Amino acid sequence: MKDSTDIKKLVIIGSGPAGLTAAIYAARGSLSPLVIAGRSAGGQLMLTTDVDDFPGFSEGIQGPQLMMQMRSQAERFNTRFINEDVVEVDFSTRPFVIQTESEKVIAQSVIIATGASAMWLGIPSEEKFIGHGVSACAVCDGLFFQGKEVLVIGGGDTAMREAQHLSKICSKVYIVHRRNEFRAQPALLELVKSKPNIEFIIDSVIEEFLGENVLTSVRLKNIKNGTTSVMPIAGVFIAIGHKPNTEFLKSQLELDDKGYIKVFDETKTSIDGIFWAGDVADRIYKQAVTAAAAGCKAALDVEDYLENLKIKQSK
Ligand code: NAP
Repeated sequence: MKDSTDIKKLVIIGSGPAGLTAAIYAARGSLSPLVIAGRSAGGQLMLTTDVDDFPGFSEGIQGPQLMMQMRSQAERFNTRFINEDVVEVDFSTRPFVIQTESEKVIAQSVIIATGASAMWLGIPSEEKFIGHGVSACAVCDGLFFQGKEVLVIGGGDTAMREAQHLSKICSKVYIVHRRNEFRAQPALLELVKSKPNIEFIIDSVIEEFLGENVLTSVRLKNIKNGTTSVMPIAGVFIAIGHKPNTEFLKSQLELDDKGYIKVFDETKTSIDGIFWAGDVADRIYKQAVTAAAAGCKAALDVEDYLENLKIKQSK
């Protein structure tokens, strides 16, 4: 176990668009950031194929390639990376302590950019079709199903937004929900209900995803009467919520009821010197470009924070 006595000005936890943009800005601001990138470095975009909505790439770019380019850009400006997960943190002491799998890192400031992970149904046949007909992001993958019929699973705002987006691209969108009542805001629900090519299938769940290499149909079960049916479908979008990656922060930082970091004054958290960026505190937008923007803001605020800290410490 390496034990670093060197105090870092800034440690960034997470290496998706939020963490890497924060690194680029902080490195250019001479903060020599250390990024603890995580074992599955690169975040959710590593699970996406074509990214057509990130500005600057008129022909689109593959998610993993975009993340590689962001990482190279951060490295060019003197960012160091540790490709390990954070095991635990101690934000009750100053400087802050971050324990990775093999190193203890000490930092004057921290940006948490660990993102969120889409929740999956978790049924056995699902994993095989992720990226081959099953997705958790209509904005990322909707165009693959242009003119085709798709299913959206869920009854909350995310499901309604996904369905609304897909209804502009796909010939037909079915919303499959396990109850007959919806968590979605009534106005949003009404808007979705008014779309002629959206149909609701209530009291139902997916029992099995079917196909050879690519999804071709699903087995649906009506949980009220127990009947099952096989429905041909080109794509399924799982929209049952996202889970912020904040397990390691419990008891260290204030989190909201869903586990998202509580936001105080733009990029700040409940602890002075600990900042957030991206989906780890974003319950609404969850886009690569909004995460990148949050990373930029957090890095700029860290610069100010460290400047003020220097002044305080010199008094
Ligand atoms: P959510 O409100 O928790 O809704 C999740 C939905 O998925 C629920 O309908 C739930 O069913 C269903 N579900 C959960 N697990 C399931 C499973 N295993 N199988 C089948 N269905 C399952 O999550 P969300 O829609 O992602 O919204 C999260 C938060 O973000 C909310 O506060 C929401 O308001 C906010 N949001 C806002 C906007 C906006 O445009 N303002 C957009 C997106 C999200 P049950 O209802 O039966 O539990």
